[in-house]
Amino acid sequence: MSPELLPIKNIVIVGGGSAGWMTAIALSGRFPEKHITVIDSTVIGPIGVGESVTGVVLAFVLDPLHGLTLGEFFRRCEPTFKLGIWYKNWHGPGTEYLSSIEAPAEYFPHRYPLHIEEFFAQAAADGRKLGDVLLYSQLMRAGKTDFYRNPDGSVSREMGGASCQFDAKAFAAWLAEVAAKRANVTHVDDIVEGYVQDAESGRITAIRTRSGREVGGEFFIDCTGFHRLLLGKAYQPKWKSYADHIRVDSAIPMQTPYPEGKPIPNYTVSAAMPHGWQWQIPTQSRLGKGYIFSSRYVSDEQAVAEFRATGVDVGDSPTILRFSPGRFEQQWVGNVCAIGLSGVFSEPLEATTIHGQSVQIKLLTDLLLLHATQAAMPVLAATYNRLIAAAHDDYVDFINFHYHTGRTDTAFWRDYQQPEAMTPLNRERLAKWQHTFPTREDFAPNLTQVALLNTNLNIWAPMLCAFGLLRSDAAQRVVNGSRYPAQLKTNLARYLNARNQILANGLTQAETIAYFRAQP
Ligand SMILES: Cc1cc2nc3c(=O)[nH]c(=O)nc-3n(C[C@H](O)[C@H](O)[C@H](O)COP(=O)(O)OP(=O)(O)OC[C@H]3O[C@@H](n4cnc5c(N)ncnc54)[C@H](O)[C@@H]3O)c2cc1C
Repeated sequence: MSPELLPIKNIVIVGGGSAGWMTAIALSGRFPEKHITVIDSTVIGPIGVGESVTGVVLAFVLDPLHGLTLGEFFRRCEPTFKLGIWYKNWHGPGTEYLSSIEAPAEYFPHRYPLHIEEFFAQAAADGRKLGDVLLYSQLMRAGKTDFYRNPDGSVSREMGGASCQFDAKAFAAWLAEVAAKRANVTHVDDIVEGYVQDAESGRITAIRTRSGREVGGEFFIDCTGFHRLLLGKAYQPKWKSYADHIRVDSAIPMQTPYPEGKPIPNYTVSAAMPHGWQWQIPTQSRLGKGYIFSSRYVSDEQAVAEFRATGVDVGDSPTILRFSPGRFEQQWVGNVCAIGLSGVFSEPLEATTIHGQSVQIKLLTDLLLLHATQAAMPVLAATYNRLIAAAHDDYVDFINFHYHTGRTDTAFWRDYQQPEAMTPLNRERLAKWQHTFPTREDFAPNLTQVALLNTNLNIWAPMLCAFGLLRSDAAQRVVNGSRYPAQLKTNLARYLNARNQILANGLTQAETIAYFRAQP
C-alpha cells in the first residue's frame, strides 16, 4: 500500500500549555496505537491566565478515556463551581444582570420542537426577569451549587454541564504529570528553534530544538500559544482580524487573596470599566482579577490608574499582556494543525477560549484523526477549518453583542454603540428581535453535536433579557401560538418545582468543593 494511505502513527505536539497537554491526554487515551511527543520548554512555560471556563473542562476530566480523577482535579487545580457571570455596570454605573449558564430543558418531561423558546417566552410574557426565574441565577444569589445531599447522605446528582473556575497553570502541570506516565507519550523538554520542511510536498518532517535534536513526525499540532511558532511561520495562512468588532487588545492580570471571612463566590464577575471591563475569578485560595482594555483609547498608565481606582493593589510595575483579536483563516494547513492561542484569540469575555480549544481537540480526537493518512489530510483539514472558523466567528458575535448596551460615557463606549461596531449578523439579529422572539434558528447552525460547537439560546437568553430583547408582546405571541400548551405548562411547573427543591437543599460552594476534594 502507498505510504500516503497508511494511518499516521507519530504525532508531535509543539507547546505544553493547557492546549498542548489537553491534546496529549486526549490523543493518548483515544489512540493507544499512536505515539505522541510533546516538545515544550519548562523554561518558557504557559501564559498562566484563563481561569474561568465552561463545562468542557469538567467534561474533559470526567471523560473515561482521559484517565483522570475528579478528586485529584479538585485537590491539584483548585476548581470552584461557576454558575454564571455576574455583569456589573455594563448599562452604566450601578446596573447589573446575572447571566447564568444552564440548560433548563434538563428538567422538562416534554421535548418538542420549540420547547426551549416557549419556556423562555413564558417567563418573559409574565413580565419576569429571567434572573428571577432561572435556577442558576437564584443559586448565584444564594451562594449555593446544584449539588445537594439526599436524606441518606449521598450527593444528589451527576456533574451534568457544570462550569468551573480553576488554576490554569496548575491544570497544565497536572496533565503533564499524568501524561508522563503514559507509555505512548514522550515529553521533550527543550526550546524549539525551527522545523524541517520537505521542499516538494511542503510538509513538516521534524522539529529542531536548541540542544540539536530533530524530532520527527507525520502530523504536528501547534500549541505554542501567542509564540505562534509553527503554523503561522511555516505556512503563513491569512490572518482574519476581529479588531473591528472586538475593540480591546490589552490586559493587566493580577491575583489577590480573598477578603477575610468572605465565602468563595460561585460565579465570575465581569464589571464594565471606562475603557473595557474587569474580571474577578475565584479559585479555591485566591481571586484572579484583571482589567481588559483598549490601547486605542487609553494609555497603559491611565489603565493602571483606572484599575487601581477600583481598589486593586496593582503594585509598581504590573504585567501588561497584548493581543490582536483574530484568527488564522485556516487552522490546519498541510500536516500542521493549530490548537489554542497559536491559531486564534478574541478576548476573555464569556470564557470562549479554552472552550474553543476543547472543541478543536474533540473534533480531532472524536471525528477526524481516526481517518488520518497523508492522502486524507487535505479533506480533513477542510472540514476542520470550516467548523473551527464557524465556531470562533460565532463566539465573536456572542461577545460583541455584550457591548451594545447604550453606555456612552467614554469614546470607547460611544464608538462601541455605532452600528459598524456590531458584527453584520448581530445587526441583522437586533433588527429582527425588535419584532420577534429569539429562537434557536437565530444562532449559528449546530454543525456538529459531538464538539458542542456553537452558542445557543440558553446562553444568549439572560443577556437578551437584560437588554430588553425578550419583548413581552412577542413572548405572548409565542405562548399563545404554542402547539403544545399543556406540555409547556407541565415543563414550566416541573422546572420551577426542581428549582425550588434544589434551592432549598443545595450545598454551599464551600461544601461542594469539600465534597469533591474528598473524592478519589
Ligand atoms: C488576558 C487573557 C485572559 C484570558 N482569560 C481566559 C479565560 O478566562 N477563560 C478562557 O477559557 N481562556 C482565557 N484565556 C485564554 C487562555 O489563557 C488560553 O486559551 C489557554 O491558557 C491555552 O493557552 P495555550 O496552551 O494555547 O498557550 P500557552 O499557555 O501560552 O502555552 C504555550 C506553550 O508553548 C511553549 N512554548 C512556546 N515557545 C516555545 C519554544 N520556543 N520552545 C518550546 N516551547 C515553547 C510554552 O512553554 C508554553 O507551555 C485568556 C487569555 C488572555 C490573553
